[in-house]
Amino acid sequence: MVKIKLATVWLGGCSGCHMSFLDLDEWLFELASQVDLVYSPLADIKTYPAGVDVALVEGAIANQEHLDMIHQVRDRTQFLISFGDCAVTGNVTAIRNVFGPSKSAESVLNRAYLEADVQPKLPQGDLVPTLLDQVIPVHQVIPVDCYLPGCPPNAERIRAVLEPLLQGKQPELTGPELIRF
Ligand code: SF4
Repeated sequence: MVKIKLATVWLGGCSGCHMSFLDLDEWLFELASQVDLVYSPLADIKTYPAGVDVALVEGAIANQEHLDMIHQVRDRTQFLISFGDCAVTGNVTAIRNVFGPSKSAESVLNRAYLEADVQPKLPQGDLVPTLLDQVIPVHQVIPVDCYLPGCPPNAERIRAVLEPLLQGKQPELTGPELIRF
């Protein structure tokens, strides 16, 4: 049996969507028998490989590293799922956008490194990836094949998207799958 190459990607999010993925519990064993996990924060794999069949992308695009990464993920992935509300809308990660397009990055850096730190010092060099002025949902940067909303999407909803893909079908979130939290 040819296994599906599955990746999970962690951009600007709290990792709660990945925690919800782990809530798939015993179904993870069934999933593991049908996929190869080729990239994930749950595995120590440094480079996003070519030829990925399905990717779950958690988090919004908040910095330059995310921006570079999402283009690479799109180029190398057949079916890309916007995974969780931060990826779908910006959600919590995009709260800083209220500071406005020219102030958002500056405001968050000042708050984190100057106002709230006992030894105020802005990060130098490449220590922290350059923040974008606005946090952007994934679909505003690259085309997305499927939206999986929720903060986080619960395990049943994640399964409702992955299960059809394992059977070679297009997932369709409707009815209770869309409103159950
Ligand atoms: Fe965390 Fe919610 Fe964003 Fe997922 S959608 S990364 S759980 S804040």
